[in-house]
Amino acid sequence: HCKEYGFIFQSSEIYDGLGAVYDYGQYGAELKRNIREYWWRSMTQMHDNIVGIDAAIFMHPTVWKASGHVDNFSDPMIDNKDSKKRYRVDHLIEGFAETLEKEKGDALLQQMDALLAANDFAGLKQLIDDNKMKCAVSGTCNWTDVRQFNLMFSTEMGSVADDANVVYLRPETAQGIFVNFLNVQKSGRMKIPFGIAQTGKAFRNEIVARGFIFRMREFEQMEMQFFVRPGTQKEWYEKWKETRMKWHLSLGISPDHYRFHDHVKLAHYADAACDIEYDFPMGFKEVEGIHSRTDFDLKQHQQFSGKKLTYFDTEINQHYIPYVIETSIGLDRAVMMILSEAYEEQDLSTAEKQDSRVVLKLPAMLAPFKLAVLPLLKKDGLPEIARELMDQCRPHFRCFYEEKDTIGKRYRRMDAIGTPFCVTIDHQTKEDGTVTIRYRDEMTQERIPLSSVK
Ligand code: ATP
Repeated sequence: HCKEYGFIFQSSEIYDGLGAVYDYGQYGAELKRNIREYWWRSMTQMHDNIVGIDAAIFMHPTVWKASGHVDNFSDPMIDNKDSKKRYRVDHLIEGFAETLEKEKGDALLQQMDALLAANDFAGLKQLIDDNKMKCAVSGTCNWTDVRQFNLMFSTEMGSVADDANVVYLRPETAQGIFVNFLNVQKSGRMKIPFGIAQTGKAFRNEIVARGFIFRMREFEQMEMQFFVRPGTQKEWYEKWKETRMKWHLSLGISPDHYRFHDHVKLAHYADAACDIEYDFPMGFKEVEGIHSRTDFDLKQHQQFSGKKLTYFDTEINQHYIPYVIETSIGLDRAVMMILSEAYEEQDLSTAEKQDSRVVLKLPAMLAPFKLAVLPLLKKDGLPEIARELMDQCRPHFRCFYEEKDTIGKRYRRMDAIGTPFCVTIDHQTKEDGTVTIRYRDEMTQERIPLSSVK
């Protein structure tokens, strides 16, 4: 559906595509932009104490040393020598554990967790060998050693290619916020608690990249870092969990399609963390992460840059490095969530005839087009009236104009891209100045004055 109706295409499709990279087509780009705008407005416009920035994708390479990404942003991998297929070690072992009896499987996973926590790669290899785990492609147990594989993309900046010029494509947008913490705080005279939001591209060389736009190598994040007084982080963490869940529910998505997943194994910098999971067609999966990141990032940047990153709190007369609550949602995962929720195949058959439709029940505020203006015929002055209506409405919201094909076919095309309202101009319009408005979800129609359409 996404391809057929101009929402999402495989990148470089005529060259057989590029793995886990996708392009947004004419309707997908509008939908994605509307979700981004809605997030941006709800974060910035609706909060006195949150501002938005737009940091560059390239950053000083030391940023990624300080953040821990150069040393830690990696997954242990193993290659099968016969098929040349590369596996994430945890995925391989988990897959194998699923084929065992529950008790044996659980015991194996426990062993794996302990080895992963200890970074014991030889032990992991041993576990794979001892259990004779096979590659799904070659069917053999001919494995390489377990190696760390960093997920960051790197390139060179400037004309000389040496180590000193290596720059990374950012794997998250958050660091652009941390390094600008003082710039924003000072220039905006921000008082704690306050937040900095940003949306933008992030890049990860995901090894197991699948699930359509769920896991991509180039994707977009919408992140907000909220800076708070040390000691108040628990309270703010709870507040942001609640606020973010409310945002999700405001999209009209049913509460039983969401759940929180609290992290048991916390990252070294976090003192609390959870995911908001949505019930995708392939099951509950993370769309958004909410993390209490302590003062880890600012402290690291203070140490690596040698610049003071403290805040003076006039209320308590103290200098401190603020604590941070992060909310981080993937825009592409949000698009996939919205599409999964909206997509419906309906059987409209009656005793007389077979009929069906595919409809995207998108919230009107997110729909690529809000209104379709459809003259019933291409003559008798109907297109002129329709054009006038277009001119009236298009400065205010995105409108679609079409005069080809039967009206039924035109309605179906609008259903398939989620246009909530269609207006038809017919001969009666000329007589009494009314038009037919059709509602996408109920497919009901009524006549309303032309002058009230906008
Ligand atoms: P996962 O466990 O699925 O790899 P993560 O925990 O690494 O995700 P974070 O680093 O917390 O993800 O990133 C925040 C958000 O960015 C995620 O909730 C997700 O929506 C989005 N995101 C992360 N990686 C990708 C990706 N490869 N493709 C699309 N979106 C992603």
